[in-house]
Amino acid sequence: MKGMERRLAEIKSVIPEVEPQEALELQSRGAVLIDVRETDEIANGSPKGALRLGRGYLELRIEEQVPDKDRTLVLMCAGGVRSLFAADALHKLGYSDVRSMAGGFNRWKNNGLDFEIPRFLSDSDKERYSRHLLLPEVGEEGQLKLKDSKVLLIGAGGLGSPAAFYLAAAGVGTLGLVDHDVVDRSNLQRQIIHTEARVGTSKVASARQSIEELNPDVKVVGYETRLDASNVEEIFSAYDVILDGTDNLPTRYLINDACVKLGKPNVHAAVYRFEGQVTVFWPSHPDRPTGCYRCMFPSPPPPGAAPSCSEIGVLGVLPGVVGLLQSIEALKVLLGFGEPLLGQMLYYDALRASFDKLKLPKRAGCSCCGESAEFQEYEEYSEVCAAPSK
Ligand SMILES: [Zn+2]
Repeated sequence: MKGMERRLAEIKSVIPEVEPQEALELQSRGAVLIDVRETDEIANGSPKGALRLGRGYLELRIEEQVPDKDRTLVLMCAGGVRSLFAADALHKLGYSDVRSMAGGFNRWKNNGLDFEIPRFLSDSDKERYSRHLLLPEVGEEGQLKLKDSKVLLIGAGGLGSPAAFYLAAAGVGTLGLVDHDVVDRSNLQRQIIHTEARVGTSKVASARQSIEELNPDVKVVGYETRLDASNVEEIFSAYDVILDGTDNLPTRYLINDACVKLGKPNVHAAVYRFEGQVTVFWPSHPDRPTGCYRCMFPSPPPPGAAPSCSEIGVLGVLPGVVGLLQSIEALKVLLGFGEPLLGQMLYYDALRASFDKLKLPKRAGCSCCGESAEFQEYEEYSEVCAAPSK
């Protein structure tokens, strides 16, 4: 013990100690408060905003987490001893202003300072999502956010199949699926979430089975019903993002109108023969408000004027590309990284192998999202095409 006391005294002569209150003040002025305790200790609480970097990984990961060696670091542990050793190690790595919090988390708590119970991914989730955890844009925090996220897919068809499959693989916690149709053999050319053996069964049940086999942690909420004015708001209100994967025009207008009214981001996509398009409609976005589907097409065409996939055909792989672009936009909206297709339409031409981006301006006089627009009631749209969800 003598040697240990001497060693501590030596460290204290180099590393200044601060009281918890002072550590909090330093943190509010930009210092990094580093909690070096192990995961099981932190599970009972840790100061808000603290960087949780267990002692075992401290030297390995500190430079990636705090590249600026002149930034003030305050290290903390449970009682204030381990943090002294940790601070000494970082000082030796070249960090110029490293301090240790006296009394550790015990004193922090006893002094009545604020803390939170941090959430962690389970070991099995860490393994499953390890490639996400390597991306700073996602990381553990983003993965936990995805776990809490709820995405609604309208249609478990050509677009909904790849989108639902990949969103489930990516770890979106809740997927809602709206589809009243059954699997038809002609669907299997592109609707990859269904199988030959499930021809004739409900698309929602079939998609649920594929998702559960892929990722049993995803909660699938099925709506084997036709979306209409009477149920749209109740269904939409439970979700963070809506993916429009229908080629039924009345439904597309209904989705648009409900998303605008409820302020939900609408990740819209459509496919036609060898072409596809994707955009994010979100007129109530706080910084970058967009237009809506009615800004482009104010009202539905007359019945019979718009052909559907079942009439004109679609290349089987095409909705795969477009549905996945849609699911990437959904992840960007959920996690806030990158630049979602707000106010822009991404247009894909498979024959030319080209992507083009077109600006989609908001139309001032839009009856749905315009400044003076007032929501009346959902229109009773007439059927303009026969096919349900492709
Ligand atoms: Zn509009």
